[in-house]
Amino acid sequence: MTTEGLKQRLFAEVDRRLPEFQGLLRDVVAIPTDNPPGDTSACVDYLARYLKSKGLPADVYEPQPTVQSLVSWMEGRQAGRNLVLNGHLDQFPAGDPETWSFDPYSGECRDGRIFGRGVGDMKAGSVASLLSLVLLHELDVPIRGQLTLTLVGDEETGGAWGSEWLLEHVPMTRGDACLNSEPTGMDQVLIGHKGKYTLRIGTRHGGGLAAVPVEDDAIARAMAVTEALMRLKGWRLETPPDVGDAVARGRERAVRGGELAGRGWVADSTTVNVGVIQGGVQSNTIPTACRMEIDLRTPVGVSTQDLQEKVEEVLAGTDLDRGEIDVEWVVCLESAYSAPDEEIVQAVAANARRITGREIEANVSYGSTDTRFWWRRGIPAAIYGTDLENIAVPDEQIRESEFGQVLKVHAATCVDYLC
Ligand SMILES: [Zn+2]
Repeated sequence: MTTEGLKQRLFAEVDRRLPEFQGLLRDVVAIPTDNPPGDTSACVDYLARYLKSKGLPADVYEPQPTVQSLVSWMEGRQAGRNLVLNGHLDQFPAGDPETWSFDPYSGECRDGRIFGRGVGDMKAGSVASLLSLVLLHELDVPIRGQLTLTLVGDEETGGAWGSEWLLEHVPMTRGDACLNSEPTGMDQVLIGHKGKYTLRIGTRHGGGLAAVPVEDDAIARAMAVTEALMRLKGWRLETPPDVGDAVARGRERAVRGGELAGRGWVADSTTVNVGVIQGGVQSNTIPTACRMEIDLRTPVGVSTQDLQEKVEEVLAGTDLDRGEIDVEWVVCLESAYSAPDEEIVQAVAANARRITGREIEANVSYGSTDTRFWWRRGIPAAIYGTDLENIAVPDEQIRESEFGQVLKVHAATCVDYLC
């Protein structure tokens, strides 16, 4: 059968069984996986049993207590490439249930929409990834190589115990290409992210009594450091030419869509957020220690080394003794991307264009997902999923129709890549 014939069979199966698949998604939404605490064990257990009932393997990994990830796969009759599907099972906390107009874990359906915490970010995507594997297996699609499913925990808290752990310890999860199903908006494939860093800075002073104040106590020093780091806001280096257009389109889109209205620079320049300042003990003593945590996001084109040198440069520009400033790089996730002409990117875009009837942009985003772990290893990867509206807010919801469309795009891309 031609790849077109295989796709037609898959699309017909999705149309015929959409209510059944929506039922599976509602069941998954009904299992809370808020992070924190990040316990994905009940959800992984449910999905592992589902996969086994379909005759598929289901390996469960738990590198931290209750932070579980699930790996399943099907092998072709002939050798070939390995395509990895990736999604996360943990989700933002639901927050105060009073701010919701229904139970956040109900999986309620009405007016053609499915409601619940995590349905958009990203249980609809993760279930679509899982069902792509199940459908190719059930319809006995003659793939070459291997289709590998990875559904992980720990995404919302950085991915070290989820995707990154799998990539380090389970070789089959690396693959030759990766397709992630995070929400993107149905007319956009994401091919890159800004860098993401957490910097912990401590300042010290010998202390004393408030009756004899000093100019440079630990809090004053911390304020000088903060002021210096704020100079990194808007800093950028040259964008690599192969993604220049993708970065520009991502910026334009975020401005047009309102998320970055009036601050388009955020999309392609460095941002600084001083998220934590803790210092001093009481008002009548000179503070002896102050601790800060700072989030830095860098554009494509700025490496970790570039950033670390720049931070040293602005710290050197203060009057402070560098030896008295403790700097710890807690998280270093360099910006990463796939070239827009990669096969996996082109295949997703073509299938999305066909299924939605819309023009599809390939953009670099200012956000962050686990896909960066594949990009960082030089493995081509693309992200395509449901709409970005109504996620991470009370009354999170998706349209039933977009769930079916995302499933079709992912299943068809598996066929293009593996058949
Ligand atoms: Zn997500």
